[in-house]
Amino acid sequence: MTGTILVSGGAGYIGSHTVLALRESGRDVLVLDDLSEGHAAALLGAPLANGSMLDREFVRDVFRAHRIAAVFHFAARCYVGESVTDPGRYYRHNVVGTMNLLDAMVETGVKRFVLSSTCATYGEPERMPITEDLPQRPINPYGATKLIDEWLLRDYHRAHGLESVALRYFNAAGADPQARIGEDHEPETHLIPIVIQVAQARREHVTVFGNDYPTQDGTCIRDYVHVTDLADAHVRALLAMEKGSVGVRAYNLGNTAGTSVLEVIRTVEQVSGRRVKSVMGARRPGDPPRLVGSSARIQAELGWQPRFGDIKTIVETAWRWHERRPDGYGDRRPTTAHG
Ligand code: UDP
Repeated sequence: MTGTILVSGGAGYIGSHTVLALRESGRDVLVLDDLSEGHAAALLGAPLANGSMLDREFVRDVFRAHRIAAVFHFAARCYVGESVTDPGRYYRHNVVGTMNLLDAMVETGVKRFVLSSTCATYGEPERMPITEDLPQRPINPYGATKLIDEWLLRDYHRAHGLESVALRYFNAAGADPQARIGEDHEPETHLIPIVIQVAQARREHVTVFGNDYPTQDGTCIRDYVHVTDLADAHVRALLAMEKGSVGVRAYNLGNTAGTSVLEVIRTVEQVSGRRVKSVMGARRPGDPPRLVGSSARIQAELGWQPRFGDIKTIVETAWRWHERRPDGYGDRRPTTAHG
């Protein structure tokens, strides 16, 4: 027995796909989640410790009650736009929440940690595709909080010998290829699910946030990466830590392929066979024009290869999930006051 993998935010979008990948590779998992944004149904029966990362005592008790071998940390607030208007919420959840986990690890001697980090830590880098050695200069509070998390890992390594891998995701997208689980946010702000909802006639139109960017078609370019490929990278990070010391390591996870907002809309039209109405709107604060990542480092060091790399496959898996579960997990609640 190698012990349990504690997955914070395991009921969320990327977390639940990683829980599935861990269980399919024969691991014991325990999800730590307060279900404020995640979904019990996304766990597919995985055990849950229901509580908040911000509750220090609760987090500590979870570590004391289980033999935890490693921690995968997904629980975080992750909306660029909201982080600009409500930064306190981001610093509280994404920095204080992470510290509560790390402190409980130090106290109970757990040494292995995988962080959900983000390309938003780079800000607007001068070179594309983005490699891990480029300076991290976030331009929004979301990116800033994740960069602080990376600093915490560096410093907890020095002080306490904590080993970590930070995975800097580009734009997570798609759904489990068998459509058992998928993306379900309330409110939904991400481009691909919004465009799919328009194709499903559940929304009237999609607003394109800016068409005056310095890109080929004037709309923002992002590097979409399949959520199942992200999950696989987490399992590989764990294996690497089990094999030997990794110290403090960071990897980009993208496809080195840029897709514009208009290209996403066209791909959804192609996959769904439906027309998608779009309306040009203003830029969204905090949005860099272009973010494309090189994943050469994780490919070379951990043997990661995207299995669902192209945008059409990504959209096809998302479409399948949304067609199967048009209401998502069916547990939508009215938007709660922000904690
Ligand atoms: N976007 C858009 N309309 C929407 C939602 C998103 O034009 O209704 C754009 C957004 O400005 C960004 C891209 O789509 O350039 C991806 O945004 P998303 O929120 O999905 O991910 P982010 O890049 O913020 O992590």
